[in-house]
Amino acid sequence: MKAFVVEKVADRAFSCAIQEVPVPECDKDEVVIKTTYSSLNYKDALSSVGNPGVTRKFPHITGIDVAGVVHQTTSDAFAVGEKVLVTGYDLGMNTDGGHAEFVKVPASWVALIPDTITDKEIMTFGTAGLTAALSVNELLDNGVKPEDGEVLVTGATGGVGSLAVSILNKIGFTVVAVSGKEEQIDYLKQIGASEVILRDTFNEDAKKPIMAERYAGVVDTVGGDILANALKYIKYDGVATCCGLTASHELNTNVFPFILRGVRLIGIDSVECKLEKKQAAWDKLAGEFKIATLDSITNEIGLEDIKDTYASMLEGKSVGRYVVKI
Ligand code: NDP
Repeated sequence: MKAFVVEKVADRAFSCAIQEVPVPECDKDEVVIKTTYSSLNYKDALSSVGNPGVTRKFPHITGIDVAGVVHQTTSDAFAVGEKVLVTGYDLGMNTDGGHAEFVKVPASWVALIPDTITDKEIMTFGTAGLTAALSVNELLDNGVKPEDGEVLVTGATGGVGSLAVSILNKIGFTVVAVSGKEEQIDYLKQIGASEVILRDTFNEDAKKPIMAERYAGVVDTVGGDILANALKYIKYDGVATCCGLTASHELNTNVFPFILRGVRLIGIDSVECKLEKKQAAWDKLAGEFKIATLDSITNEIGLEDIKDTYASMLEGKSVGRYVVKI
C-alpha cells in the first residue's frame, strides 16, 4: 500500500516521502480500516519534523485522523464494510496514522460515522472539528448563551479556530475573531465572524491587569499572551476554553478575572477523552453543529501534497482545513 512515511536520517534530521509498505493485519480486538479520507493537523506537522513530544518511533506514518470502512476486524463491535473514523488516542503519534491506504487500530478507538455526514465532511472536521465542538460544548454546558453577548475565538484562521467560528455562528452566537492575518479578514467574515481584531492590536490594547467586560465566552486555540489578555475581557460568570499552544505553552496571567468576575478557564483534550464523549460530539457535528461553510474551509489534497502543506503549517501560514483523499 502507499503511505506517507517519515524517516529519521540522522540525529534530529528527518525526511518524508510516499513509500510502498505492507498492508497491516489484524491482531486481537483490532480493526483494519480501508482509508477514504484523512486530514492534516498541526500535530501531524510536528510529527513530520520529529518532534519528540509527538513521535519517538521511526519510520512512522503521520495522520492523527482517519475515516473509511472496516476492511478486516477481530472485534465483535464492528462489521466489515461499516463506515468508521478514528481521531486521537495514539493514532499518528507512535501508532502508524491515517496517511496510508490501510490503517490498523484497537477497536476501542473506533467511532461510527453518522449517516448524515460524508467521510470527506467528517475529515474536514477531523481532530480540529472535534476540538472545536468540545470547546463549544463546554461554553454551552457552563451556561454561555447567544443572548449573553459576543464570543471571542483566537487563532481564528487555523483549523480549530475557523471551525469554532463557524459552529458558534451557526448556533446563533456573535463571534469576534482574533487573527494574525490581515489578508484573511474577508475570509473570516465569510465563515461567520462579525468582527476581526488583528493579533498585535489585540495584545497592545490589553495593557491593564483587567479590562472592561466584553465577551461572554472565549474559545482560545493559541495560549500565551493572547489567552492571558482574552481572560481580562471576559464578562462576569463567563467561560474560556483552552486547547492549544501555537503562540506559547506559557500562560502568564493574574487572578483578577477569576476572583472579581468568577471567570472559569476550562481545558480541552480531544485526544484521550472517552470514546462516548467523542461519539456524542461527532453526532452533534453531523447535526446541530454541521456548518454550511464546510466546503469553503476545505482544501482537498493528495498524499503528494502533504510535505509542502506541513511546511506552511509550521510557518503559521496555513488557512482552514486540509483533507487528504487517499
Ligand atoms: P493551525 O496550524 O491550523 O492553526 C493555528 C493558528 O494559530 C494559525 O492559523 C494562526 O491563526 C495562529 N497562530 C499561528 N502562529 C501564531 C503565533 N505565533 N501567535 C498567535 N497565534 C498564532 O492549528 P490547529 O488549529 O490545528 O491547532 C491549534 C492549536 O490547538 C495547536 O496548538 C494544536 O496543537 C492544538 N490542538 C489541541 C487539541 C487538543 O485536544 N487539546 C486538538 C487539536 C489541536 P491566525 O493567524 O488567524 O491568528
